[in-house]
Amino acid sequence: MNDTILIVEDEPKIARLVADYLSKSGYASDHIDHGNAVMEWLEENQPMLILLDLMLPGTDGLTLCRQIRERFPAIPVIMLTARVEEVDRLLGLELGADDYICKPFSPREVVARVKAVLRRSHGVASVGEDSVAAADRLTLDEDGWRALAGSEDLNLTAVEFQLLKVMMHSPGRIFSRDQLMDHMYRDHRIVSERTVDSHVKKLRRKIADIWPERDIIRSVYGVGYKYQPEE
Ligand code: CA
Repeated sequence: MNDTILIVEDEPKIARLVADYLSKSGYASDHIDHGNAVMEWLEENQPMLILLDLMLPGTDGLTLCRQIRERFPAIPVIMLTARVEEVDRLLGLELGADDYICKPFSPREVVARVKAVLRRSHGVASVGEDSVAAADRLTLDEDGWRALAGSEDLNLTAVEFQLLKVMMHSPGRIFSRDQLMDHMYRDHRIVSERTVDSHVKKLRRKIADIWPERDIIRSVYGVGYKYQPEE
């Protein structure tokens, strides 16, 4: 695997902008603007990450994402989509993309997500654990079913702990309410989306009691929630 990022995007302006920002952050990139050229290119080149647009001429992003997962499972994929509603549908399809970014996005956001996904896929500690001092860190004691904000126990219920754990294992990744529901109860009891919202609300309040200024569990309008540690 080499150290370039492949940008698959048919809008030259967007591709150039993203490539510029990646280059400023020290990442080299390659660019493909047609869906039909991607798989063949990958047979010869192994990028360390792929930014994949959904709507492409030729083979579309959905099909490509599936093919990449099957043929090159080790290469992380971030999908670029035009609409926030689209993300929910994509999550439901379980394509195996590592993250989703909605247009219009800021190139800075793309670079931040690229860094987060690369850290995750290399099995390195999450962003929060990397650079945030211990006193400001959120940690999970998975055996004790406890979460600590610095050294303070958040006193979470089992359900709140499960929700936090799922999100913390994939920093930056957006989870739909459906996906969170699957993790809430081991007995797979049926709960409504409003139940998820209410548990997340309590979880956020407990974190806010200790760190009122921080927005660690973020709600993504129309989609769901994500754990977003500070850089
Ligand atoms: Ca496009």
